[in-house]
Amino acid sequence: MPKEVLPGLYQLKVPIPNNPLGWVLPYLIPGDDGYTLVDCGWNTPEAFDALETELRDLSLTFADIKRLLITHVHPDHYGLAGRIKEVCGAQVIIHQRERDFIRSRYKEPEQLLERMATFLNEHGVPKEEVDELKSAAMAVRGLVVPVEPDEVLWGGETLDFGGEYKFVVYWTPGHSPGHICFYEPTHRVILTGDHVLPSITPNVSYHPQQRGNPLGDYLASLQRLESLEVVKVLPAHQEDFTDLRGRLREIVQHHHERLDEMYAIIGDGCATGYHVASNVVWATGTFDTFAPFMRRAALGETLAHLEYAVQEGRLHQTRENGVICYKQASG
Ligand SMILES: [Zn+2]
Ligand SMILES: [Zn+2]
Repeated sequence: MPKEVLPGLYQLKVPIPNNPLGWVLPYLIPGDDGYTLVDCGWNTPEAFDALETELRDLSLTFADIKRLLITHVHPDHYGLAGRIKEVCGAQVIIHQRERDFIRSRYKEPEQLLERMATFLNEHGVPKEEVDELKSAAMAVRGLVVPVEPDEVLWGGETLDFGGEYKFVVYWTPGHSPGHICFYEPTHRVILTGDHVLPSITPNVSYHPQQRGNPLGDYLASLQRLESLEVVKVLPAHQEDFTDLRGRLREIVQHHHERLDEMYAIIGDGCATGYHVASNVVWATGTFDTFAPFMRRAALGETLAHLEYAVQEGRLHQTRENGVICYKQASG
């Protein structure tokens, strides 16, 4: 039975089979013409059935969903979007920065795979591992029925669907370039997607589609939420919680500790992203034992920290024989 987190506003629970995250938490927001569903789970029969059952528990069907708001286009949030659109014609709404990924990841990935191979070589991934890591995300493509958005958001909009809840869109890049959160100022609740979770931190990766300074973007996005008055945080995984500011502080601290750990690994030498990633103590296990997808995520997360440190003037980046390595700026 869905949980009523505010009068008429429900938290659903959709399973993510064979995944440590367990489930995704979509939200149903009431409006004049029906409901807006925020995120939807990936495209598996179990997830689709769970969603249908939860709607039925509320005496609803897919026909009652008029809009589908997507925090970002990762498979666990966007996977079922195409199927839901097909079933009920709901309007699909995402941030404009996520739109480009629909084609390059889910429809025509060939170019991206080539860029990924070059990227992995540049960051010191051993030749025998490049092929494996390059295509590590291809398996999840089957979990997504891609659909183009009917409408895109930029951040700053107030979404008024006629009901008592009017959510303001906050653009929060970092975990994904077009990630968005939704804040309701009257009821002081915020839907945080993957941006802020109660006890795990989302992957923030530097990768071929997210250059620049993703960790810097992420930390700035956390700061953007700091001044909000919030009594309840509604994330897309784990469970809802109350202390947003406390959690924001913990996450910032986590990344600073991670940076210190990486400076220590680099020491006086010059290290590739791969070398640093394989020596970090990850909460979920050791690098060698990770499946290819996790190894690539760990490398992306490492590079996000190293590139942040370069931007901060703490590290220098050099390139030798086509391979990039990082060293202390003072050394
Ligand atoms: Zn995500
Ligand atoms: Zn997620």
